[in-house]
Amino acid sequence: MKLSLVVPCYNEAENVAAFRDAVVSAFDGCGYDYEIVFIDDGSRDATLHNLRKLYQEHRCPMKVISFSRNFGKEAGLYAGLQHASGEYISLIDADLQQRPEIVRDMVKILDEKPEFDVVAAYQDRRGEGKVLSFFKKCFYSIINHLSDVTLRADASDFRTFRRSVAESILRLGEYHRFSKGIFSWVGYSTCFIPYTACERAAGRTKWSFRKLVNYAIEGIIGFSTRPLRLAAYLGVMTAFAALVYLVIVVLQKLIVGIDVPGYATIIVLILLLGGMQLFCIGIIGEYVGKTFEQSKQRPIYIAKEILGDDQ
Ligand code: UDP
Ligand code: MG
Repeated sequence: MKLSLVVPCYNEAENVAAFRDAVVSAFDGCGYDYEIVFIDDGSRDATLHNLRKLYQEHRCPMKVISFSRNFGKEAGLYAGLQHASGEYISLIDADLQQRPEIVRDMVKILDEKPEFDVVAAYQDRRGEGKVLSFFKKCFYSIINHLSDVTLRADASDFRTFRRSVAESILRLGEYHRFSKGIFSWVGYSTCFIPYTACERAAGRTKWSFRKLVNYAIEGIIGFSTRPLRLAAYLGVMTAFAALVYLVIVVLQKLIVGIDVPGYATIIVLILLLGGMQLFCIGIIGEYVGKTFEQSKQRPIYIAKEILGDDQ
């Protein structure tokens, strides 16, 4: 098997058949074997039903892994990598925003340029609003400053890589999976190619603003411990400021003789210090929570049905 397309699907009932057809026509006459590995991520619509139908039609080699509930796209990608048997593996969305023809180009690059192990697509034009775009920029600059991995702001999960890369990714068994960080962490030489994302064929995006914020926090916590040091710095700076203020208060008392300290100052200091303490406890709590969840060693996903794979 030359190529496996790993396709996570969550409520994509209207898209899966069109996606399969687009893949079949894109790879028609390509001269190599390929398979589609669909992951039904606990969809609540007819996605699984439609995937079973596609599987029976046998238009191309196909595997279907169906989760017992929604575990998230990251878990879907992990399961897809485990079940992919291709020499090259491609991660692509089911909504046809990313055209399968581009995967053909990616395969060509991997064939022709042995120095690259990964071909990743980045969006040359993004059709999103100014506000979202601003927040995304903030997130990338924060994470690139804080963490050990460097992320490209416009890169997506849409990429094709060699089997060795997939095996490396699978060795990272963390429960909270932040793919962008994982791709960057495993390294390998990456060739970036531009692509223009199309409109979603049908259905709605699963990303809300709240989900994006959570995802961003996950990314920072998962790939950096520097926020913890930030708490320590904050503590040192506060202690230093308190020391300076102590000297001022003593001098005021000795020179001017004020003996009724300001009410406002006390309230502000209590609130400020309380706020900072809670903020730092919150940061520590995030890490403790993640450690707790990882220590339980729960599986990343649970598959209730697998079609087309005898592993
Ligand atoms: N997806 C998934 N599980 C989820 C959310 C999304 O498998 O919990 C899949 C979804 O079906 C799609 C891909 O991940 O194939 C990308 O999702 P979406 O199109 O909503 O994201 P966007 O393209 O808007 O970034
Ligand atoms: Mg999409």
